[in-house]
Amino acid sequence: MEKLLDADVKRGHEAVLDMDCYAARIRAFDGERFAVVTEATVTDRERAHPILSVISRAPAGKTLLVLAGVHGDEQAGLLAIPHVLEAWSSERVRLVIITPVNPVGAARRSRFNAQRRDINRDFLRFATPEARLVRDVMAREKPDFVISLHEGPQDGTFMFANRFVPTPLARALCEALSLGGTKLAKRDYFGRRLDPPGLAPSSATVRALTTVWSFTLRVKATIGYSEDRGTPEIVLESPSRSADDATRVRPHVDLVAAVAAGIA
Ligand SMILES: [Zn+2]
Repeated sequence: MEKLLDADVKRGHEAVLDMDCYAARIRAFDGERFAVVTEATVTDRERAHPILSVISRAPAGKTLLVLAGVHGDEQAGLLAIPHVLEAWSSERVRLVIITPVNPVGAARRSRFNAQRRDINRDFLRFATPEARLVRDVMAREKPDFVISLHEGPQDGTFMFANRFVPTPLARALCEALSLGGTKLAKRDYFGRRLDPPGLAPSSATVRALTTVWSFTLRVKATIGYSEDRGTPEIVLESPSRSADDATRVRPHVDLVAAVAAGIA
């Protein structure tokens, strides 16, 4: 994890990513193992911000899509991506990463995009270019599994799983995180008890709530969009107040590796 702490990241909880450095660092992975492509640019105050895709070149069966930085102020997922790429060794899973999904939010350290919209509420109306891009990449790449990387105010790490994530796999993922040294949350950020710790599975209540949401407020998150398509998705929520950057990033790196192993 030490490599994370070089010139492009300033230490501590005020760590701010320089998005030009970040994009350059991701582009440096373009080569034999990965193809890095600018999928789109979004503009804010006359400045263009790239949204990149990184796709592994090795021929493989299943496709794993990772969404990093849907919420620009939750940067652990962005910080994790270089480590995910360095560690990536699967020849049985094709890795597709979109990073940062919300580059304007990341540059401003804001949850929202340039239009002050929450991209993760826009998977019904597709009013934002960022949600449209994710939709188009999903249509093109046909992922077998989706991971979206987030951070939250709770103690410990947990994951939301939609109903297409098999329960034994979800439990194994929690165990893998725990084995890697990640502290799993006993409660989610709504205060609901998690049993086993770390896992917020899909439930009839959550699904009913999501349905009400989509009909009344016309909002939908990526996890609901994936569910509509029959695709398993996990939304990882690590604590934003981690002791150090390595602790902050670890669950994201470990989850991607564990899912790749689990679906291979
Ligand atoms: Zn989030």
